[in-house]
Amino acid sequence: MRQVIIIGAGPAGLAAAYALQKAEGFHPILLEADDVVGGLSRTVDFGGNRMDIGGHRFFTKSREVQALWEEIMPYASAPALDDRLLHRTCETRSDGVDPEQAEAVFLNRQRISRILYLHKFFDYPVSLSLQTIRNLGFARMCGIGTSYLASCVHKREEKTLEDFMVNRFGRRLYETFFEGYTEKVWGRNPRRIGADWGSQRIKGISLGAVLSDFFARALHLKQKKVETSLIERFSYPKYGPGQFYECLADEVVRRGGEVRFGCFVKKLIGDEDGTLREVLYRAPDGSEGRIAADAVFSSMPIKDLCAALPEAYLSEEARVTAEALPYRDFMTAGLLVDRLELKNETAHKTLGNIVPDCWIYVQEPEVKLGRLQIFNNWSPYLVRDPQHTVWIGLEYFCQEGDALWSMDDGDFLAFAEEELTRIGVIRPGAVREGHVVRMKKAYPAYYGSYRSFPAVRASLDRVPNLYCIGRNGQHRYNNMDHSMLTGLCAAELLRTGKKDRHALWEINTERAYQET
Ligand SMILES: Cc1cc2nc3c(=O)[nH]c(=O)nc-3n(C[C@H](O)[C@H](O)[C@H](O)COP(=O)(O)OP(=O)(O)OC[C@H]3O[C@@H](n4cnc5c(N)ncnc54)[C@H](O)[C@@H]3O)c2cc1C
Repeated sequence: MRQVIIIGAGPAGLAAAYALQKAEGFHPILLEADDVVGGLSRTVDFGGNRMDIGGHRFFTKSREVQALWEEIMPYASAPALDDRLLHRTCETRSDGVDPEQAEAVFLNRQRISRILYLHKFFDYPVSLSLQTIRNLGFARMCGIGTSYLASCVHKREEKTLEDFMVNRFGRRLYETFFEGYTEKVWGRNPRRIGADWGSQRIKGISLGAVLSDFFARALHLKQKKVETSLIERFSYPKYGPGQFYECLADEVVRRGGEVRFGCFVKKLIGDEDGTLREVLYRAPDGSEGRIAADAVFSSMPIKDLCAALPEAYLSEEARVTAEALPYRDFMTAGLLVDRLELKNETAHKTLGNIVPDCWIYVQEPEVKLGRLQIFNNWSPYLVRDPQHTVWIGLEYFCQEGDALWSMDDGDFLAFAEEELTRIGVIRPGAVREGHVVRMKKAYPAYYGSYRSFPAVRASLDRVPNLYCIGRNGQHRYNNMDHSMLTGLCAAELLRTGKKDRHALWEINTERAYQET
């Protein structure tokens, strides 16, 4: 049996362990710094109200990942509590299980998400609809239209993300919907982010397409299409994403693998020829643990991995680049309230008639809040009393050690409550209780030293028994399915003895995979 040390029991690490067990001949041992599985995709239980750290849709175009999900967790054979009470139609499977009876089950949920701006709701993604025109007002719309036309005539040289967006959307639209939000998420103005980031992540608009879309909507020719674009369906575990990873970890252990909690990997030890032999970690009691490794799969942040590797394994450029790799951190406040002040003016029925959104992008410039999750709409089972309370998650993008991050939990909850009150989402005094979660390195960022990333990759690829997997493990903006795919791919490379890591780094680079 070859012993494979997997650093991190998040989606990537667990998928890798599971695939290695299926391949046979491998003994995977997961070293997890935390005391739970799931990584960023964990669920936090706060007295029966469960928080999803960010709101994780299970949605994939990969057949392999879909098959893995189905092997681990059955689908619902009957409607979830809210669908049943509201007589809403939803997709069920005859070979599934009843969510009212079974614990582990994927629900089929509807995605509704909108933008809150000027205390009004806008479609997400923003569309040129009568509602948008009404919300923005005639004068603002004229400004947006003329500045868009100006951007078509006068193209700027694209050096920064601002140039990229102004060229595609016009300055006024850029300032209205993109500038502030980008700054909230990435902590820097788009003027200080490279244009290549935009070409990787953002599709442009075509005036012709926008206008024909507008007239089709105005003439009610496109109603059906509009509704399906606003309402997508996705799978979601009854008790949040972490439940799925708990089930997957149970399966890994049942098949003979190990998950060791509270083990923080500090150093990787290897031969002079560049092959890793041992992993050193800090055990939960503070002692130092050592474990032999035939191969190492790492989903720990690349910055930390490079600091843990023998110095001689990295070129000077790789070491300097990795040390300076940028990240954004993330804080979320779970607040339990009796009701929201936002009116449900949609045709969607919900328990307590709350707004039907799973999450809302908050574009209001006067608050730091980035997104608002309404956990009741993700799964009624996330909430202890979904008929009489609303359990919400406020998302803040920040930097480890900055003023927000360093706030005392009580002060942060008060700050979050005040922001929500200010933009009219709740009334003063509506919060019954709250909980704070901080996640380091939630977003690997593509600016700063990232431009020299190829040097890091080249050094890492020279280590014959090291496999970089996952989101921070590859410093890539991966979703859960991409992260799992990297784990599956690494297992396959090890099984087949292929040395080339190209396939591993190619995951999540195709443009078709990215969101509009
Ligand atoms: C706000 C937000 C919303 C998101 N929404 C979605 C969504 O809707 N759909 C979707 O598919 N994806 C979503 N994602 C992405 C998803 O969270 C990640 O893709 C996924 O969790 C990455 O899995 P991973 O295993 O690569 O890494 P992680 O989840 O980061 O897990 C890595 C694990 O490694 C451990 N670790 C780190 N360092 C060490 C060390 N030195 N020693 C031991 N262990 C260590 C960590 O504790 C962690 O458990 C979202 C992410 C965020 C931040």
